[in-house]
Amino acid sequence: MSNEDKDIPVTQEENEIKKEKARDIPIHKLDMRRLIELDACTRCGECLLWCPVYDQDAKEGVIPRRKVIDFLKIARSQQGFLAKIMKSDRVGESMKRLLASVFRYSEVSDADVEEFVKNLYECSTCGQCEVVCPAHIDTVNLWEDLRRLIVRAEYGPLEPQKALRKSVKAFDNPWQQPRAGRTKWSRRAKKDGLIQNEPRYIKKTKGKVLLFLGCTASYDVNVKQVAINTVNVLEALDIDYGVLGKDEKCCGSVLLRMGDPEYERLFMENINQFNMLNIGTLISSCAGCFKTIRQDYPKVGKLNFEVLHTVEFLARLLEEGKLAFPNPVNKTVTYHDPCHLGRATGGFDAPRIIMNAIPGLKLKEMPRNREYSRCCGAGGGLKAGYPDIQNKMAQRRIQEAEDTGAEELVSCCPFCFQGLNVGVMARNSPLAMKDMSSLVAESLLGYDIFEKAAKDAEEKAAARAKAKAEKDAAKAKAKAEKKAAKAEKEVAKVEEETA
Ligand code: SF4
Ligand code: SF4
Repeated sequence: MSNEDKDIPVTQEENEIKKEKARDIPIHKLDMRRLIELDACTRCGECLLWCPVYDQDAKEGVIPRRKVIDFLKIARSQQGFLAKIMKSDRVGESMKRLLASVFRYSEVSDADVEEFVKNLYECSTCGQCEVVCPAHIDTVNLWEDLRRLIVRAEYGPLEPQKALRKSVKAFDNPWQQPRAGRTKWSRRAKKDGLIQNEPRYIKKTKGKVLLFLGCTASYDVNVKQVAINTVNVLEALDIDYGVLGKDEKCCGSVLLRMGDPEYERLFMENINQFNMLNIGTLISSCAGCFKTIRQDYPKVGKLNFEVLHTVEFLARLLEEGKLAFPNPVNKTVTYHDPCHLGRATGGFDAPRIIMNAIPGLKLKEMPRNREYSRCCGAGGGLKAGYPDIQNKMAQRRIQEAEDTGAEELVSCCPFCFQGLNVGVMARNSPLAMKDMSSLVAESLLGYDIFEKAAKDAEEKAAARAKAKAEKDAAKAKAKAEKKAAKAEKEVAKVEEETA
């Protein structure tokens, strides 16, 4: 479908090539706005210049323009008056050929749809095409709506993405981890001296702020700094917050982005649980959870609280004079705008307000920042479906970050953290990956909790080793004294016998 030859009307010879017929896509489920948008594409090609996936995999089929063209072709071949005539047994083959030639009708095969589906999922739903599109097509919602049709027709999601879907359904998290493991991070963090107390359980404390941690921050040990630093920040500021602990479930973003209609069930279960807490604010340090709860949940059910990303919550406290940064953080950092905080919800200022308020911290922007931030490729199911492309996208972003000369790359999302780290490791980059919460915690506490815990552990180990050495030395001394006393006794005995 992706080459231009396929725009040519069906010829007799082509009709002779037997192709397996495509299953029906429920196009009637698309709302009028999406249909108008599909028609609004002017084929200008601006999206081609900006798409971060096309940048790493220059395939015609992945360009938004091409996806629109290919979907319209599928739609025309399956819906409408002409499609009905072409499918009718009462119309002769010669008449069908004539109509096909006059109206440029082409039949779409199963293989054509499968090719389209692969291209539709080779997209991180980053929203860059939406920002640059002169026709203002709401592409992210368009891609997600098309994915839903594709899943309904059982063409999607892609095979490697199915494990995520299965895991969310079975364990309420996409990482195939048992439900009981959701709070393991906090028990471990307390034991390691990274938090003083385990986070407050909101159903007991009746706190007014719910901290929604999300699956990635809860389960992935490589990004544990996000949850740990966020909890330390809230404790240091004495916020009346709490977490859901073992009762927290996946926000459902993975299902929504991949087109699985099951997301509605998960959304409703979460909405009902949140609404019963009687909270004023829900905060999340995960851009993906935040975007989903703030923007997508209200399409399914009413929320009785406001939803903020943690950086927005902190920026507000700063503005109200309830937050000050007492200690300098003498570092040069660069900042990666997560697609779901930045482009999706316009959250560009809050992270920069926070960074500018921390004394000693220098921010060096990458050339692609704010609404032009280059996606790391972690979202939209791309990392699961196309890990090689995600790896290349992350490396490209890391290269851009390295070029700023910064020591650290900061972001506001555990998913970006995971995604960008793929690039850090692949390039063996000197950049250290950090979450914004770690800078805030460092300034509030006056130290990096991980460095402090490592130093404390080292000191404890040294003290233990010293105590053991002293004990061993005392033991050896006592043993030697005992031996000497015994020898003395024996000498005395011999002297007595020989006297
Ligand atoms: S930028 Fe918009 S109008 Fe232009 S080709 Fe891409 S989707 Fe179509
Ligand atoms: S949403 Fe991002 S990855 Fe997907 S087509 Fe648009 S620019 Fe490309």
